[in-house]
Amino acid sequence: MTRTKAEFQRLIRAAIGEVKADLIITGGKLINVYSGEIPEGFEIAVIGGRICYLGPSAQHSCGEETEIIDASGLYVSPGFIDGHTHIGHYARPFENLQSFLPHGTTAIVASCDELATVFGFRGLKVFWEEVERHPVRVYTLVSMVARQDPLLCNTASFTQAEMTEALADPSVLGMVEIVSWLRLLHCDDELP
Ligand SMILES: [Zn+2]
Repeated sequence: MTRTKAEFQRLIRAAIGEVKADLIITGGKLINVYSGEIPEGFEIAVIGGRICYLGPSAQHSCGEETEIIDASGLYVSPGFIDGHTHIGHYARPFENLQSFLPHGTTAIVASCDELATVFGFRGLKVFWEEVERHPVRVYTLVSMVARQDPLLCNTASFTQAEMTEALADPSVLGMVEIVSWLRLLHCDDELP
C-alpha cells in the first residue's frame, strides 16, 4: 500500500512520457465522483496498476508495449469501496468476492467474524488465505465476536497475543463490532 520514492518517480516519469504506460484508456465518459460531472474527451494512462496521467491526450505515454482500450460509448469510474461488509456468511470468502467486481466494487473492508467465531485465530488465517487469492482488495477488521460466552459455548477465541499479532498485519485496519455481549457485561479480562 505504501509507495516508495522510486515508485512515485516512476509514476511521474510515466506522466510526462519518459517511461511508457502499461495501459491507455481512450474515448470513455469520465465519472467525476467529486463534482458529479461526466466529461468526455479525456485519456487515462496507467503504469504498474496505478493511474499516472489523466488529460486530453495520453499519446506521449504510449509505447510499443502499451495496451490501448477504446472505451467509446462506456463510462469510466473509480472503483467503489465497501466500507463495512461480511463475506463469510453464505459462502466461502473467495466465492463471495466473485459477486463484487462485476458491480464495480474493487475494494472492501471486511470482518472475519464468521470464521473467527468457529476457529479463532486459525479462522482469521483461513480468511486471509481466501482473500489473498482474489483481485478485490480486502482490508480486514479483526473480530471481537469469538466467543459469546465461555460458559455456554466452547468455540475458539483470540488470545491477547493473537490479537496483537493480527493487528500488526498491514491488511488489518482495526477491530470490528463486538458481539460478545455477555463477556463484555461480565467485564471479562480475557476479552481482546
Ligand atoms: Zn459488521
